[in-house]
Amino acid sequence: KATEEKYTFETEVSRLMKLIINSLYKTREIFLRELISNASDAIDKIRFMSLTDPNALSAAPVLNITIWADKENKVLTISDSGIGMTKKQLKENLGTIAKSGTSEFLSAMEDKKADMNLIGQFGVGFYSVFLVADKVIVTTKNNEDKQYIWESQAVNDYTIAEDPRGNTLGRGTQIKLYLKDDALEFLEDGVLRSLILKYSEFINFPIWLWTKQTQVVEPEIVDVPDKPEEEKKEKKTETIEVPGWELMNTQKPIWSRDPKNVTELEYENFYMSFAKDNNPPIAWTHFKAEGEVEFKAIVYIPSKAPEGLFQKVQDYARNVKLFVKRVFITDEFLDFVPKYLGFIRAIIDADDLPLNVSRETLQQHRTLQLIRKRIIKKCLELIADLTKDDEKYEKFLSEFGTSLKIGAIEDNKNRKKIAQILKFPSSYKGANSTTLDDYISRMKKGQDKMYFITGGSVEEVQNSPFVEGLVARGFEVLYMVEPIDEMLVQHMPGHGGKMFQNVAKGDFKFGDEDLVESQKLKSKFVKLIDHMQATLIDQVEKIEVSTRLTTSPCAVVATDWGWTGNMEKIMAAQAF
Ligand code: ADP
Ligand code: MG
Repeated sequence: KATEEKYTFETEVSRLMKLIINSLYKTREIFLRELISNASDAIDKIRFMSLTDPNALSAAPVLNITIWADKENKVLTISDSGIGMTKKQLKENLGTIAKSGTSEFLSAMEDKKADMNLIGQFGVGFYSVFLVADKVIVTTKNNEDKQYIWESQAVNDYTIAEDPRGNTLGRGTQIKLYLKDDALEFLEDGVLRSLILKYSEFINFPIWLWTKQTQVVEPEIVDVPDKPEEEKKEKKTETIEVPGWELMNTQKPIWSRDPKNVTELEYENFYMSFAKDNNPPIAWTHFKAEGEVEFKAIVYIPSKAPEGLFQKVQDYARNVKLFVKRVFITDEFLDFVPKYLGFIRAIIDADDLPLNVSRETLQQHRTLQLIRKRIIKKCLELIADLTKDDEKYEKFLSEFGTSLKIGAIEDNKNRKKIAQILKFPSSYKGANSTTLDDYISRMKKGQDKMYFITGGSVEEVQNSPFVEGLVARGFEVLYMVEPIDEMLVQHMPGHGGKMFQNVAKGDFKFGDEDLVESQKLKSKFVKLIDHMQATLIDQVEKIEVSTRLTTSPCAVVATDWGWTGNMEKIMAAQAF
């Protein structure tokens, strides 16, 4: 062991390991999911390379994952013929944590706000091996380097040594888990089989498990009619156990199947597996595009907004996975879909994209731009479809309603479409929120504008003196109670041929005023007005008699061009 080198784990890794070692019992089976998913990623990488480098696969041409339990030595081995790791990568990948989410994961775990099940989402899935093993040996061979052995007992350090046996793997990675004494169940055929089925259904490479398969051996049938009955009975069928590799998955990608033959549950499970989400999606669409571009895709809407949906700016959203003819190409797109649709998850498999260009040029490629347009269109259709189911749509809006509004603000081309599916609470009884089209259909005769008020909450605006007057006259008022609504009406001044009218602004008229009557009122209160005007000269622009109010004596109104009280509040909250 002369060439063995000892390294200490980065502090964060040690912290993570401590957490893992002391982690709850019930979630520990997820280590297998993490290892299979890493193996699959590694095979994806070498297959991608082989598209441009014909020799990339030659050291180990068969792409697969194998799992083998050695009961005698209590060792579980997971091997793949993926890309493998160079010595440098071994150190970087299995000794330090390069990913940004780790500290968040650590704090969330330490505060008991997250569970171990989420480890894969934070890019530290590998370390879950220490849930079940107290010693782990990783042997790995990358085309660019020699074969190396990484070994750790989950304390503070690990070793890396050049493999004295030379290159035995050809290419790929083999992970040996020396199981803890209380984790020996993971050596059982039955346990392994059911876990692999659960976690590998949607892995695109064959997964083989070394098992003992029972085979029924039919006895030779010797037809001797003159033998007594008792002797015939002895010739029973026998079962024997034959060890061998058993294929665990079918590997036909779900998106390339006929939608008619895919069950809801399959779509849901597929989503949860590729999106690493514990919740089933709220909706999806599976389609095949033809014509200008040909591709197959499944677009999903998650049931919950991902953490920090609007904050991730520089990082890849990784929400769109691109395949070309079933070969995984990349999920590193910056804004494949516009930011406001950043919550969707999609799998795209295109037939005619060039593979000899860099990923950066790929993103600019005309074909990909066409695909992009279609995907955006499909997303909006999918959301529009959701509106048919009130309960689901309310759920959707509570997670992604703000996203839609951002869409209406930013996406000029699709603003009309988005405006049709926006919903707002309103004074209309019996509907929690209404679409603009429904609002328009209820507008009173002679009403030519859509009335709205902005504010901090429905309760607040409901009791506003402006609303009360209108409602008393039988008008419906939209309640725009999200901060973004103020911006929305600036960018989208109307819909369906009707303009918006902020009822808290300017000298807005109902259109049903009796001019003679209001003239009378004005002269009646002229002295009061003059007095108030003189007193409040520094506070307000002007004082007016109005017929807009019913029970409230007075109200403060913004000018047509001025900020409403609500806008002032929003601006004040944003200023620092
Ligand atoms: P993630 O998979 O999210 O990157 P992991 O902790 O699961 O995080 O793995 C860390 C890194 O280790 C991977 O990104 C990869 O570079 C490397 N790695 C892990 N397993 C393998 C493997 N079987 N073959 C090649 N590289 C691997
Ligand atoms: Mg992983």
